[in-house]
Amino acid sequence: MQTVKAYAALSATEALIPTSIERRPVGPHDVLIDIRFAGICHSDIHTVRGDWGAQSYPLTPGHEIAGIVAEIGSAVTIHAVGDRVGVGCMVNSCRECINCRKGEEQYCLAGNIGTYGALDVDGTITQGGYATHVVVTEDFVLSIPEGLELDVAAPLLCAGITTYSPLRHWGAGQGRNVAVIGLGGLGHMAVQQAHAMGATVTVLSQSLKKQEDGLRLGADHYYATSDEKTFSDLAGSFDLIINTVSAALDINAYLQLLTLDGALVNVGAPAEPLPVQAFSLITGRRSFAGSMIGGIRETQEMLNFCAEHGIGAEIEVIPADKINDAYERVLASDVRYRFVIDTSTL
Ligand code: NAP
Ligand code: ZN
Ligand code: ZN
Repeated sequence: MQTVKAYAALSATEALIPTSIERRPVGPHDVLIDIRFAGICHSDIHTVRGDWGAQSYPLTPGHEIAGIVAEIGSAVTIHAVGDRVGVGCMVNSCRECINCRKGEEQYCLAGNIGTYGALDVDGTITQGGYATHVVVTEDFVLSIPEGLELDVAAPLLCAGITTYSPLRHWGAGQGRNVAVIGLGGLGHMAVQQAHAMGATVTVLSQSLKKQEDGLRLGADHYYATSDEKTFSDLAGSFDLIINTVSAALDINAYLQLLTLDGALVNVGAPAEPLPVQAFSLITGRRSFAGSMIGGIRETQEMLNFCAEHGIGAEIEVIPADKINDAYERVLASDVRYRFVIDTSTL
């Protein structure tokens, strides 16, 4: 057991504070990671603030982890001391169910073990990446390819895979019209990836404030959803829409923007329901779907894809004492486009 520095929330209503947490001893299949950077995902805020249900506190969030291997267990074969590695939203799964065997551990029938706030195999509650070190079983540790700096790579471990997986699953590519709702952490990854896959990309943002950024990131078109005309102009346009918005939207209005057989895939995870009219779907054989992160194999594929295409997150690196301010800015959609904690400041 070792005690390491971290930041934690003590309740759903208090600010996060500096603290220390315990990490388990390095077992035969474990990797000890010296965390260098941890991204701030909107899911951290939803979780800490109890949007998705009661949590066990103190809670150290963080599931966009990038660092260096500091120690390995006696049976570890995949990683070596000094390797550049990452950890995303899961630290384990049952490995036996049909979904785990398909490499879709995020959909483990026994429930994947989340990087924080989840019941671990040893009966403890997992604690996340706003910390100096973490111990993770080797199969859930990703390799960060050369050419991707650790700070810009950190957000790929959640934001990057959450958009890559549905873009691949629903076939974003040449000749396909893809729209991305919300240009935040996830949205700015979706734009870059869909563009690199060859799709024609449109951003649907609340305003035109970030238009220049959106076009620079690879969007072909940019529209403000505050303008009613956007919905009439774009009716029937998109094969695929990825909704990254953290709040409830009028899904029916967006379903009208799909082509025949188009799909609107929700990755945003507001606590509120997203009501859908049957007629929004049946009048165009449309689908309304959801997607959660991606499996370990696909996460490695995504990291390699991003390195190959020179894609990283656009980040604002912050010291630990700015975490609470960063939360407020994320909630105000004032993020360009991911806050990343420099864990040396813990
Ligand atoms: P984020 O950086 O805050 O981005 C969300 C974006 O949504 C904002 O930048 C804003 O974009 C837009 N938005 C926010 N509030 C809005 C509102 N009331 N109406 C319309 N648009 C609004 O958050 P994120 O880290 O990308 O996460 C987005 C969501 O995905 C969160 O709910 C998070 O929990 C969820 N998530 C899901 C998965 C998964 O596996 N499915 C994984 C990670 C995160 P504009 O300013 O451009 O409008
Ligand atoms: Zn996340
Ligand atoms: Zn499983």
